[in-house]
Amino acid sequence: MSRMDVATMTPTKTMTAKEYVQSVISMIRAKNPAEPEFHQAAQEVFESLVPVLDRHPEYRSARMLERMAEPERVLMFRVPWTDDRAEVQVNRGFRIEMNSAIGPYKGGLRFHPSVNLGILKFLAFEQVFKNSLTTLPMGGGKGGSDFDPKGKSDNEVMRFCQSFMTELARHIGPDTDVPAGDIGVGGREIGFLFGQYKRLRNEFTGVLTGKGLNWGGSLIRPEATGYGCVYYAAEMLKSKGKSLDGKVCLVSGSGNVSQYTVEKLLDLGAKPVTLSDSNGVIYDPEGIDREKLAFVMELKNARRGRIKDYAEMFKSAKFVPTDAKLDYNPLWDIKADCAFPSATQNEINAKDAQNLIKNGVTVVSEGANMPSTIDAIKIYLDAGILYGPAKAANAGGVATSGLEMSQNSMRLSWTREEVDERLHKIMIEIHRNCFETAEKYGTPGNLLNGANIAGFLKVANAMLDQGLV
Ligand code: NAP
Repeated sequence: MSRMDVATMTPTKTMTAKEYVQSVISMIRAKNPAEPEFHQAAQEVFESLVPVLDRHPEYRSARMLERMAEPERVLMFRVPWTDDRAEVQVNRGFRIEMNSAIGPYKGGLRFHPSVNLGILKFLAFEQVFKNSLTTLPMGGGKGGSDFDPKGKSDNEVMRFCQSFMTELARHIGPDTDVPAGDIGVGGREIGFLFGQYKRLRNEFTGVLTGKGLNWGGSLIRPEATGYGCVYYAAEMLKSKGKSLDGKVCLVSGSGNVSQYTVEKLLDLGAKPVTLSDSNGVIYDPEGIDREKLAFVMELKNARRGRIKDYAEMFKSAKFVPTDAKLDYNPLWDIKADCAFPSATQNEINAKDAQNLIKNGVTVVSEGANMPSTIDAIKIYLDAGILYGPAKAANAGGVATSGLEMSQNSMRLSWTREEVDERLHKIMIEIHRNCFETAEKYGTPGNLLNGANIAGFLKVANAMLDQGLV
């Protein structure tokens, strides 16, 4: 099919819902040729929607899928800055304002050398459905840069953030678009970005979330994605009359999401045994306890070191360096009960998924965004394990960002217990919604379908109400 054919194709009444979905996926591939991650995210969501489109032809005639696949706005801009040797550096900045049907655009900023338009479009697209599931009024967006904060001094990071915000400030605002952190953007970067926004606009507003506690941040926001992902796993197990107590858990990554996943697993009596970074994996069969976790937090958040140091510090652990020649990740080839992928997209391929099942894993709760390939997901679903898809399982982070926005608007701060309780209730509600929606649309137990359909319905109905905009 040529690009013209797919771009102008009308969904005819003779097309089945399945054919309509496939035609939209072909159109997305043809129109966005260099964006494989975006194709993957769209395929994963849209294929789940066949039972909805079968029952509700109004979404087809409104061309809802085509509209959702097209960002409301894409911003791409130059970010010039000078390094510590006074040499000029140039990076590319982005903000994808994907969908504002149910609230202001909301979603993180990622600073990583792999960042490109397709990766940010996949993340912004996912964010729309995730934010819809949180029960809070937030649209979807995502942004970032191909800037790599690793190995940069604090001053270099500050100069980059100030230049990035100088352009971004024109496009965001507390009622328009509220960015947050993601890979490579933590408390330090949010501080520099907020400082520059405030200076440019001469106003102190809740324009970013993940702020410091002394200047408008919310307690529990740093913990929220990891805690929420574990609460979601606990709900999945509860639906089978089981709990996390005593379960051996594989966790990947060693950044924000991974650290607080490990902390909440310890709270609930589980035994986390792995962590990783881009250089390799540590496996500690004796378990990563609170003392070892404190070491990891200091290593990663203050010293900005590598996970290899863990195995030098704790002799019970072994370090396996990353081997690009392998077609699987050794982290997923360890005997365990549960897996919490918390590093990056497509970190579990089909072979990894087979290894997980072979090693006895019966729960996968996704802390990272789209960490499993489409083939890996098929293997989980065929094996009938408990699978918590990212847009549901890791929604606790953005949900708590929503709570930060509420506290900023009311100009007050809730206690740690109050925020944690709200987060916990939201995760229980997201699981209930996914579980019941999966059942209602004829695929009981398939939380992927449940999450995609429930997330879609709220946004699609708002778009129908608001007319063709
Ligand atoms: P982070 O603090 O920057 O940590 C990222 C971790 O993943 C690091 O250990 C990093 O190792 C590893 N990693 C990143 N890219 C990698 C790659 N290409 N190959 C191997 N390892 C890689 O980021 P984070 O906030 O924890 O985010 C982790 C994941 O959770 C992402 O998918 C993000 O989109 C998702 N997420 C985050 C939040 C949130 O609130 N932060 C919310 C929802 C979802 P290196 O240091 O070696 O790069």
